[in-house]
Amino acid sequence: MTIALAILASALAMTFIVGVRYLIASGGFALATRIKHPGLYAGLDKQMWREVRWSLYSAAIYGVPAGVVAWGWQNHGWTKIYADIHAMPLWYVPVSIFAYLFLHDTWFYWTHRWMHIPKWFRIAHAVHHASRPPTAWAAMSFHPIEALTGAIVIPALVFLIPIHVGALGVVLTVMTVMGVTNHMGWEIFPRFLWSGPLGAWLITASHHQRHHERYGCNYGLYFRFWDRLCGTDEGLGRFRHRSDAALCPPAGGGADRGRTAERCRDAA
Ligand SMILES: [Zn+2]
Ligand SMILES: [Zn+2]
Repeated sequence: MTIALAILASALAMTFIVGVRYLIASGGFALATRIKHPGLYAGLDKQMWREVRWSLYSAAIYGVPAGVVAWGWQNHGWTKIYADIHAMPLWYVPVSIFAYLFLHDTWFYWTHRWMHIPKWFRIAHAVHHASRPPTAWAAMSFHPIEALTGAIVIPALVFLIPIHVGALGVVLTVMTVMGVTNHMGWEIFPRFLWSGPLGAWLITASHHQRHHERYGCNYGLYFRFWDRLCGTDEGLGRFRHRSDAALCPPAGGGADRGRTAERCRDAA
């Protein structure tokens, strides 16, 4: 097999893996949504098909650089991925996972802010925000330009920062799970992860929900670090399934009206 064919085969295999991984992860969490919050995605069938279509295009874009790097790693020892757990001290394993997540988050935050510049928003990011509200299927619903910005991060980092192949698996799993659950429309994680001292720094669905409500805030991916540093953190969003009707009556007056509006804002 010629080199070009081998690289093509690797890229196709990776596209297949990324696509199947997306279908299993999004399908699994969509099923969990159906069980836990029946009717949450009611009336969103057309949108969900569109999310699946864009996500599968994205799978191909993610698959190509990943395939080329995987081929180079296997055949030429490219990259700093190591398979022998003792090649580096054990403490380095969690450090490398955190470093990958933090650098990915940093890249995501700044490219995401760039994509919210009106001109670029229309070109590259409107596809993602066309999901209103997003569902578990929106995890990879990106315009090809946005998909490309996401696809090159991990393949670039493996050339720069050593990582054990198992730790890389952890990073990819976190990436997949958070990509899906952040768009799911409800919180799957225990409260301590998204409220309280830890929640002040971690991003879960409640935080990303607010980005999809207000657009110009909450740009981060895993951590609230950049949002908080740059003053773009606007707290947690509200979900469709919360009993907002009781908390926020749609109309009416009365002496309590001002206070109710206040409470609604606080609850959001
Ligand atoms: Zn999103
Ligand atoms: Zn956005």
